[in-house]
Amino acid sequence: MSNITVCARLRPSSSKERKDNGDNVCMRRLDAETFIFKDEKEEDFTFSFDKVFYEESKQAEVYEFLVLPIVRDAVNAINGTFITYGQTGAGKTYSMEGPSILKCDEEKKGILPRVVDGLFEHIKSLNEVENYSIKLSMVEIYMEKVRDLFDLSKDNIQIKESKVQGILLSGATETEMNMASSRSHSVYIFTIQQEFTGDKRMRAGKLVLVDLAGSEKAEKTGAEGRVLEEAKMINKSLSALGNVINALTGGSGRGNHIPYRDSKLTRILQDAIGGNSRTALLCCCSPSPSNASESLSTLRFGGRAKHI
Ligand code: ADP
Ligand code: MG
Repeated sequence: MSNITVCARLRPSSSKERKDNGDNVCMRRLDAETFIFKDEKEEDFTFSFDKVFYEESKQAEVYEFLVLPIVRDAVNAINGTFITYGQTGAGKTYSMEGPSILKCDEEKKGILPRVVDGLFEHIKSLNEVENYSIKLSMVEIYMEKVRDLFDLSKDNIQIKESKVQGILLSGATETEMNMASSRSHSVYIFTIQQEFTGDKRMRAGKLVLVDLAGSEKAEKTGAEGRVLEEAKMINKSLSALGNVINALTGGSGRGNHIPYRDSKLTRILQDAIGGNSRTALLCCCSPSPSNASESLSTLRFGGRAKHI
């Protein structure tokens, strides 16, 4: 049984949405875990999550509830994954990075910079640790190819598995940068190694952050050619992720088989999402009635993932 926490985040309306819809939004809050969602046909759906981050929610709240437990675990050599899911424009990258990864108000800093601070802070507080290293790899998965964001010449990194080190990206640079694309998955992999004082025992943990490609359906935009191919690949990998999560949470009835090999994304996550690792999923939604069908599909993805 895996340990998965699923939350929804409903971002504030943008100025355009406010202009188009006024105060009209497609969800009505009941409490900190539950809200009512109204679809295009004005039908009501009730959704419950481990927590709902409404429009006024702060980045620090998302971090403390969903990600800080993973940071603590990773330092204790328990792997973990934090994933942002949702259509383009829903607030995935805002949650992950903040309004800007390079410079923004302290309060608006996203999960990624908070994880960096949190890891160092937590390790430094451990007296029994003599030496440690924190390594970061950043890759992008586009059209089922894994590309190193620190070295763009490495555009087809192979995923390997080692008995001792788990899933490895052979040759990926471990060191900053970002290609903000909504058509690719951005994956940030922190590897934390520690050596204890005295017996020099070593331990290692892994923390993976995933800013997924937009989950919107292609048909709606009348996509053709390359855009359609991209959409198919994204759809395939998001389904694969959903299947892995459902198999882990016991929802699939397919025994113990977890289909990690069905996509590059799930393959990379293999040793950070199953077993005794901790997984957190943030389902990001626009509050706008014009995005209701995409928001509904995002919330359903989250609802299935929560099913235990
Ligand atoms: P995505 O990565 O899902 O495509 P973004 O994170 O880029 O979406 O968000 C789309 C827009 O909405 C951006 O201008 C972003 O700054 C804004 N936004 C998203 N979430 C929030 C939030 N919680 N508070 C304020 N602005 C937000
Ligand atoms: Mg984004």
